[in-house]
Amino acid sequence: MKCLPATKPDLIVKPRLIRQLFLPPLILLLTLGLGYVGFLVSEHNSIRALSENGERQLELHARAVESEITKYTYLPSLLELEDSVSTLLNDPDGEHRQAVNDYLEGLNRRSRSRAIYVLDTTGRVQATSNWRDADSFLGEDLSFRGYFQAAIRGQPGRFYGIGSTTGEPGYFLAHGLEEHGKLIGVAVIKVRLEALEERWQKARLEAFVSDENGIIILSSDPARRLKSVRPLTPEIKERLARSLQYYWWPLNELEPLARQRLADGVELLTFATHTDKPGKDINVTYLSQSRRLADTPWRFTLLTSMQELRHEAIVQGVLVAVAFALLAFLLIAWNERRKVLATRLAAREALEQANSHLERRIAERTQDLRASNERLKGQIRERRQAEETLRKAQDELVQAGKLAAIGQMSTSIAHELNQPLAALRTLSGNTVRFLERGALDTASTNLSTMNELIDRMGRITASLRSFARRGDDKGQASLGKALDGALQVLASRIEASHLSVQRTCAELQLAIDQTRLEQILVNLIGNALDATAGASEPTLWLDGRMEGERYALRVRDNGHGIDVETRKHLFEPFFTTKPGDHGLGLGLTLSASLAAAAGGNLAVEHPADGGTTFILSLPLAAASPSESP
Ligand code: ADP
Repeated sequence: MKCLPATKPDLIVKPRLIRQLFLPPLILLLTLGLGYVGFLVSEHNSIRALSENGERQLELHARAVESEITKYTYLPSLLELEDSVSTLLNDPDGEHRQAVNDYLEGLNRRSRSRAIYVLDTTGRVQATSNWRDADSFLGEDLSFRGYFQAAIRGQPGRFYGIGSTTGEPGYFLAHGLEEHGKLIGVAVIKVRLEALEERWQKARLEAFVSDENGIIILSSDPARRLKSVRPLTPEIKERLARSLQYYWWPLNELEPLARQRLADGVELLTFATHTDKPGKDINVTYLSQSRRLADTPWRFTLLTSMQELRHEAIVQGVLVAVAFALLAFLLIAWNERRKVLATRLAAREALEQANSHLERRIAERTQDLRASNERLKGQIRERRQAEETLRKAQDELVQAGKLAAIGQMSTSIAHELNQPLAALRTLSGNTVRFLERGALDTASTNLSTMNELIDRMGRITASLRSFARRGDDKGQASLGKALDGALQVLASRIEASHLSVQRTCAELQLAIDQTRLEQILVNLIGNALDATAGASEPTLWLDGRMEGERYALRVRDNGHGIDVETRKHLFEPFFTTKPGDHGLGLGLTLSASLAAAAGGNLAVEHPADGGTTFILSLPLAAASPSESP
């Protein structure tokens, strides 16, 4: 039994399996990662573009605010030129107040400011443009106001606050009025800057202005107004409360949900923004850019919504992810196709190789076959030639055998013919004498005896002639006639040796030439005669019977038999045990080859009780009558 090698458990995971297991999650991860990177890059670029654009917007709108503020800076100082004002301040109890009130009212109307008023050095309002109004400042003590205190110190008073009388916010600009180098009072102009806010709202601009305390004084979104952009210290809170700059306003802190500083004056702020739907606030992130406004300690801040930018970045991220996924899909498809093509190519090459190999082998085999065919043809030719040569040799042998037999027989034939000839001579001489004597009966008897003798001599020569004739492979023979002929040829020897012939065989036709059959029988019977030469009762049995398809004639004698050594060479040509000219050693060889040529054979048996039996088997002739004992 063949032992198969023990197979190891398949621990090695095939690379293809690894690819199939890990590739999809890897591609998914890469898709998500690249999508996120795309989102970040897009956001970063958009923020940069946005901040560049915001820079310009910031500059534009900051300048607009600056020009709005500086528009009024010269106005308080103009009052120094007005004599009625200085007169009033030098003499507050005089009758110049109304004139100054009227003047200020007219000036206020032309300059489109909120109010213009004049304070004496103690901070009391001596004249005002709103003298007609119920909430007129006239007579009020505003010495606690920062702008007054700054102006009295000779500094420009800049102040944004809520009016203590009207409760209305406004921008206050104060200027110390001098006469001959001496401070005689303070001129103040109150301006409302709401126009800026309205302009921003109309332009859908999100912006605010914060003062030196970080409190938003102007805002496009009213909700952010008066909120601090940074935490207020307790000292500042106290100072503001004392100066009532923002009246009693709570000044809450503007608290963004998230704050991320990007650069100096640039940060990302996220606010919860109210929507129209109640309770549905949304978080909006703004890019906040701010810059200081010239001539004031204030800062202008521009807010640019990042809502659209975020959407765009998300879309870009998704696009990147989709593009990568598509690319990965195309690459995988291309790779699979490449593999299929490579496999097909390899298969085709293998097929072509196998084909060419096969063709080569077929050509080689064809050549081999052709060569062996040629060899076979040659062998067949040689075999035919050999057969031809053999047949010729056979014929020659037969003929030689016949001639040899004739030579052998010539002595006995001469003897056979001499005897009747001598008898004929004697008889003819006697007959002549009997005729001379007139003994006609005796002469007639002698003559008939002579006739018989002549007939006998004729038969002897006829059998010799037929024996010497060349035979044929085909034809048919009568067994009875052949036996008669053979016994006739050998009659004198049979007679001389007193051989008893026991003949039990059928009268039938065998498929062999008549002469050849006779020749075989002459050989076999001749050998039997030789073998039984010294026997006390020499006997020859000719016993025929059907054996299968053939007819077997047993030629048996009770002679000396054949010794073991001789048996080995019996059918060899020119093998003989007979001395001198007696034997040629061709008889059995010829007989066997003649029998074989007729489709039969010649065999030998050695009976236990002595003697020898030759068995001649021959096929029946086509129209042979059935055996009759
Ligand atoms: P030949 O008769 O010329 O010797 P054969 O071929 O006829 O040649 O016989 C060969 C030999 O076979 C003979 O010499 C003889 O020794 C032996 N032989 C043939 N027939 C007989 C027989 N019937 N009995 C004994 N020996 C035989």
